[in-house]
Amino acid sequence: MDLLDTLVAKGLNRELPTREEALAVLATADDDLLDVVAAAGKVRRRWFGRRVKLNYLVNLKSGLCPEDCTYCSQRLGSKAEILKYTWLKPEEAAQAATAGVAGGAKRVCLVASGRGPTDRDIDRVTDTVNAIKEADPGVEICACLGLLSGNQAERLAAAGVDAYNHNLNTSENTYGDISTTHTYADRVDTVQQAHGAGLSACSGLIAGMGESAEDLVDVVFALRELGSDSVPVNFLIPFEGTPLAKEWNLTPQHCLRILAMVRFVHPDTEVRIAGGREVHLRSLQPLGLHLANSIFLGDYLTSEGQAGQADLDMIKDAGFVVEGQGEASLPRHRSEYAEQLAGGCGGHGAAGGCGGHDAAEGAGCGTEAGAGCGPCGGHAGEAPAPAADVTEDESRTDLVKVRRRGAGTELAPNA
Ligand code: SF4
Repeated sequence: MDLLDTLVAKGLNRELPTREEALAVLATADDDLLDVVAAAGKVRRRWFGRRVKLNYLVNLKSGLCPEDCTYCSQRLGSKAEILKYTWLKPEEAAQAATAGVAGGAKRVCLVASGRGPTDRDIDRVTDTVNAIKEADPGVEICACLGLLSGNQAERLAAAGVDAYNHNLNTSENTYGDISTTHTYADRVDTVQQAHGAGLSACSGLIAGMGESAEDLVDVVFALRELGSDSVPVNFLIPFEGTPLAKEWNLTPQHCLRILAMVRFVHPDTEVRIAGGREVHLRSLQPLGLHLANSIFLGDYLTSEGQAGQADLDMIKDAGFVVEGQGEASLPRHRSEYAEQLAGGCGGHGAAGGCGGHDAAEGAGCGTEAGAGCGPCGGHAGEAPAPAADVTEDESRTDLVKVRRRGAGTELAPNA
């Protein structure tokens, strides 16, 4: 297929596809799916080999959020029966983090629900980072605490935080449909603040919320412009008790097309399969490893993933290897680029190369919540697929399991 040959050539040369080419990937037919995966897999292997970076989520504060993000089980007014608790003590968070690192995680993602941290919250996170790094000085830490203000990004960098996650989630045009309590511009501003402070920027999206193919391409291109080192791709988990509970719009095949499109637009960026992996990719998860070079180990913020050992077995069976602490995640040229953007290394910033810091991730508030690219399915030919052409998946509420173990419980974490 000419389209795929063109995209592979561009990806190997780190050239940006056109919007039309990105849309055409989303519109490919199921019959062409393995060709699409094989093509994007060549780009993935060129820049990341067969390494898979493992990230581990620790939900420092769960639920009770005053914001109204429609996809989120922790939102204002959510009826989802999730765990609700306020800030974990530093030693509790460190205990959970240690379990993730022992399971193979290279990065720990510290997430707290809420609009944004207070200065006292930054103190709490600083204490938590100290406790985690005391146990394992080599672990990377990403914080995801919501909108930043003042000198909070600088304070986090000084505390030893390596990266900051704040997802754009969807296109600027449709952002008002998923949240009214903050804006797309607020989110962009926080990512820029984090980057400016020398933190590696992690920002991604949620597919499956009812957006069009054009919206998906918009947000993926916006993330490229933003210079995100890591792009987490969430697939909406339609939690009962949230406004998007009935949005079951994704098929495993379309999730793979989305991941392939993201890989072509971000050939040398960490692409992470985030929340919704088990729920939407299901038995096709191993094919996702040919596109993304990063996943979360174990559970998500408020929902359970498959067993951590099942993640490790899947990686091994598919012929991939877990990325070690001493290995750079991003290609060397990306490290240099990120350092330039951040105004010098200072220990943070890029990935890999400099002092073991890599990209960021995409957890945080919104990581698992949901995203969705509404439409999927029904793709044929090369034309952009309007939302109305997408075939809906059937509801699989049986696959959504609220997290009842790990942080905030008496039970051992899943790692
Ligand atoms: S995504 Fe974050 S800000 Fe939005 S409701 Fe959920 S926890 Fe709050």
